[in-house]
Amino acid sequence: MSLKIYNTLTGKKEDFAPIKPGEVKIYTCGVTVYDYNHVGHGRSLIVFDMIRRYLRYLGYNVIFVRNFTDVDDKIINRAKNECLPFSVISDKFIKEYFDDAEKFRIEPADVEPRVTTHIPDIINFIQKLVDAGYAYEADGDVYFSVRKFKEYGKLSKRSIDELLAGARIEPGEKKKDPLDFALWKSAKAGEPYWESPWGKGRPGWHTECCAMIFKHLGETIDIHGGGLDLTFPHHENEIAQAEALTGKPFARYWIHNGLVTVNGQKMSKSLGNYITLKEIYSKYEPDILRLLVLSVHYRSPLDFSWDKMEETKKAYERLKNAIEEAEVLNKLPIEENFEGDLYNAVQKAQSGFYSAMSDDFNTPEALASLFGLVREMNILRDKAIKHGGISKKALESYKEAAKTLHDIGRDIFGLFDSLQPCVKQEEIKAKEKEESINEDLIQVLIEAREKARKDKQFAIADLIRDKLAEKGIILEDTPFGTKWKKA
Ligand SMILES: [Zn+2]
Repeated sequence: MSLKIYNTLTGKKEDFAPIKPGEVKIYTCGVTVYDYNHVGHGRSLIVFDMIRRYLRYLGYNVIFVRNFTDVDDKIINRAKNECLPFSVISDKFIKEYFDDAEKFRIEPADVEPRVTTHIPDIINFIQKLVDAGYAYEADGDVYFSVRKFKEYGKLSKRSIDELLAGARIEPGEKKKDPLDFALWKSAKAGEPYWESPWGKGRPGWHTECCAMIFKHLGETIDIHGGGLDLTFPHHENEIAQAEALTGKPFARYWIHNGLVTVNGQKMSKSLGNYITLKEIYSKYEPDILRLLVLSVHYRSPLDFSWDKMEETKKAYERLKNAIEEAEVLNKLPIEENFEGDLYNAVQKAQSGFYSAMSDDFNTPEALASLFGLVREMNILRDKAIKHGGISKKALESYKEAAKTLHDIGRDIFGLFDSLQPCVKQEEIKAKEKEESINEDLIQVLIEAREKARKDKQFAIADLIRDKLAEKGIILEDTPFGTKWKKA
């Protein structure tokens, strides 16, 4: 089954074929770290996490890069208001980002580049554009000459005339043409800056992604992604810079996720409907937001409301219960005169799931296939309970159905992390008990090693450390005592 992807650049669904067989290079524009992540960020993260997981499921080696914009007007303004260095703000919100990502099981990217650690790459990139005649310096700023890139507007389907109607040269800007955009901005008093061939300054937003992509992925990538609001001007400007320089396509497929409204309104702080990811997981299991996001096609608008979270929670419980009830059926007596099994239903659900996913990641259709299987599972369960027993074949088919739901949900949708299907509760408890005994024993050994070190019996202390290392337990001596971790 071939994968079809809607490409914003061509406005069509196309068969997906990566540049290098078996490998997919993806870049998505990450967050500007000046505030807590909201549900709009959450949607984009969940969508591209799903796309990455699905491509991996199809057997591709996926290389995924997502950046942090860690110097920008918004960060600088917040830092000024709070009388802090800008890096304190960006570091704080990068940490918040990782907390959120972990909660919602957004897999870390393979590379997570920050602007401030890529300044030489960015300067180098801008210099090449200046040398090639596509960019010019004006009083410490550097601008890109939009009119020199003949295909400008091809992603967002805008013409130069249309763009001119809305373009202005703001007071203080030194560009030659209102269409031009800044690649490098000279530093104003009190702002962070880096030395460059054009004096002290910092990069413009549109350039960082190009420089990071060239550095970490190459001049042409397979998929470039982001929210729909980034299509213009951000992605249009990325294409102009990259393709002006190389003459090659910058990204083969452009994927944009739809935007999020809250109760039908645009989300904004002034309307008081700004929903952070923190607030969501203080009220609901993170899985519920993942399921809500995946229940809408990624290109459609998504309207968030707490009522929808509540509805989604019920749907989630149905999925989860169907998986967990394999245990209930497991306790029923085996009755070989019981008719029926789920093998056909499992096959139907799987083929429905994968054909929907391969049609431009149609997650709502894919979910409908899974819920179809849940319905069949519930019918079989009710019948078995009424019958007072179940055949071996039917029981095994139910377990197979539960495992299918669980594994697809976990591997492709990132759900059910805490759920262990078809494992008896006693086994889970026994495992937990075993782990806690092990932890107590490690603590005893750490204390014994400390005593040995105090008594200058270093050979014994080292022996304890080495023997634990052999078992995969690494000891770390810190100013606050010895800590341990699994290797
Ligand atoms: Zn970008």
